[in-house]
Amino acid sequence: MREFGYQRAHDVAGAVALLAADPDARYLGGGTNLVDLMKTGVERPARLVDVRELPLDRVESTTDGGLRIGATVTNSDLAADPDVRRRYPALAQAVLAGASGQLRNMATVGGNLLQRTRCGYFTDLAAPCNKRAPGAGCSAVTGEHHNHAVLGASDHCVAVHPSDMGVALTAFDARISYESPDGPGEAPITDFYLPVSDTPHRETALPPGALITHVTLPAAPVAARSRYRKVRERASYAFAIGSVAAALTVEDGVVREARLALGAVASRPWRARAAEAVLTGAPADGASFAAAADAELAAARPLPHNGYKVTLMRNLVVSVLTELAGEDAR
Ligand SMILES: Cc1cc2nc3c(=O)[nH]c(=O)nc-3n(C[C@H](O)[C@H](O)[C@H](O)COP(=O)(O)OP(=O)(O)OC[C@H]3O[C@@H](n4cnc5c(N)ncnc54)[C@H](O)[C@@H]3O)c2cc1C
Ligand code: SF4
Repeated sequence: MREFGYQRAHDVAGAVALLAADPDARYLGGGTNLVDLMKTGVERPARLVDVRELPLDRVESTTDGGLRIGATVTNSDLAADPDVRRRYPALAQAVLAGASGQLRNMATVGGNLLQRTRCGYFTDLAAPCNKRAPGAGCSAVTGEHHNHAVLGASDHCVAVHPSDMGVALTAFDARISYESPDGPGEAPITDFYLPVSDTPHRETALPPGALITHVTLPAAPVAARSRYRKVRERASYAFAIGSVAAALTVEDGVVREARLALGAVASRPWRARAAEAVLTGAPADGASFAAAADAELAAARPLPHNGYKVTLMRNLVVSVLTELAGEDAR
């Protein structure tokens, strides 16, 4: 392991100033992703700026009935928060579906959103990988890609985003706030993650040196009846091969409002707006749910070894929506 410096930041301005002074520095949250990448040599920061003691560790209600979540709130505290569990249950479920208890105790909200892909070639320094070394090529397109993207990918990179939390935040229109050397900024989560295009190494709209400070969830009464379902190859301690965050409001047998986001299918959590458009105003039945899934997945472009994901996601969407509609009818 290479030598690196370590400093603990005590206020937001100080943390941002430390990064601005050293372009090779990185923020350190729980370290559960960054330190692993340092061990393999994928990340080689000259200095770590520990942000865990910043005063960003609270989940607070906003005046409009939403929530403001600090970037250093641990995954465990977020999942246990009574307001999260009551008002956005799919978010709590998504967090609890990820990693393990020990990891969730360390991992922070900011770090979870910025965790890197689990594509095996990304961490294999001997393999060409455009995300790690722009212009090198993509080993996964012709190699092992059974858990890679079926939506929104490019020939330059077919990796998926691994965060479960990000999928639920995407369904609920979260906004990401940050402090950068040029001042504060904010982006809706759907703009925060950049399309993969021909620049897979550029993953987010975060300016250089910016510190994520908060995630804001707008009020969303529909979210009170929401669900996160994750399919994985082991019962626990495994990343998704497909996941769905969904919320549904049904009145008189008709869908009044729907929220749907898909995980492990694209380079970013995937907001399923085509499906939502089909659902809104449609009968809350299996035919509508299947039509909604088909509308979203019509854009799928599977690779030779991941076509199963299209069927998996169709079944998952129909199953979760059917479950939510059944609850609404009770
Ligand atoms: C065995 C294992 C299994 C896992 N399974 C899952 C899973 O099933 N689902 C899932 O979603 N995740 C899973 N994870 C990933 C885990 O959730 C992430 O490692 C964790 O959320 C990252 O948070 P952290 O605070 O430890 O980030 P760190 O490792 O500290 O940082 C990650 C990145 O974010 C940056 N960063 C951190 N905080 C900030 C900030 N406030 N502002 C700007 N940049 C910041 C760092 O510089 C770094 O680039 C798993 C991890 C492991 C090791
Ligand atoms: S899919 Fe992306 S991360 Fe994986 S090898 Fe290709 S460029 Fe690298």
